[in-house]
Amino acid sequence: MKFIGAHVSTAGGVENAPLNAKEIGAKAFALFTKNQRQWQAKPLTQDNIRFFKKNCEKYGFSRFHILPHDGYLINLGHPEQEKLEKSRRAFLDEMQRCEQLELSFLNFHPGSHLGKISEEESLKRVAESVNLALDKTEKVTAVIENTAGQGNNVGYKFEHLAFIIEQVEDKSRVGVCLDTCHAFASGYDIRTKAAFDKTFEEFDKIIGFQYLKGMHINDSKRDLGSRIDRHQSIGKGFIGLDAFRLLMNDARFDEIPMILETPDAEIWDKEIKLLYSLIE
Ligand SMILES: [Zn+2]
Ligand SMILES: [Zn+2]
Repeated sequence: MKFIGAHVSTAGGVENAPLNAKEIGAKAFALFTKNQRQWQAKPLTQDNIRFFKKNCEKYGFSRFHILPHDGYLINLGHPEQEKLEKSRRAFLDEMQRCEQLELSFLNFHPGSHLGKISEEESLKRVAESVNLALDKTEKVTAVIENTAGQGNNVGYKFEHLAFIIEQVEDKSRVGVCLDTCHAFASGYDIRTKAAFDKTFEEFDKIIGFQYLKGMHINDSKRDLGSRIDRHQSIGKGFIGLDAFRLLMNDARFDEIPMILETPDAEIWDKEIKLLYSLIE
């Protein structure tokens, strides 16, 4: 079964996310557990936590279909020690918020070398950052997202994600979220059956489907290999509907949260229906 949803708003409190997801006919959702553009955040209140759990139960969202996303300021591959530590503290706080909400995953972008250290050195820092966070938490899995490779971001090759996983000590609590727009922008074609098969054969060989914990389902405003991260509504970009039809009819993507991060939130309900309608 496919669990399709979107990255919904938490305006008014995290407990509103499951309501917002239900309203658009989602079977999965993503959320920020704090303001994604600020370092500091108020702790979650007992009410936030209680009503979040209550609403998830009421609307039938299991923790395995909820994919929290960390804040945009965090860079776990930062070249400078002081700033790296600041990111690590913020990441740990996010992991702990997920624990409080009894969630299973935290989805994050690996980081950026900022042109000051090598990609490999930055990726090592990311892995070490994950190890430090896993040490201090118990149940949440750190879910690495592939990137478009824009600017100095690492994580745009399957090998990068595999390199991080290799160095994470607790393999049971590390996973991958594959963003279709980012994959396409970084050069992985999925537009035809042959290209789709080749890309996911490579994914399985280099990373392994056992690590796939979620997906971001986005079309792309830019062409293959552009390394520019611009999401587009499903079927309206350079990827096109055929790729999403292949995805929807492939059992390797069953049971995981498939999250829209497409630009027009007004049509998410239609996009979810459209994706379900592709299932043959
Ligand atoms: Zn994404
Ligand atoms: Zn993106």
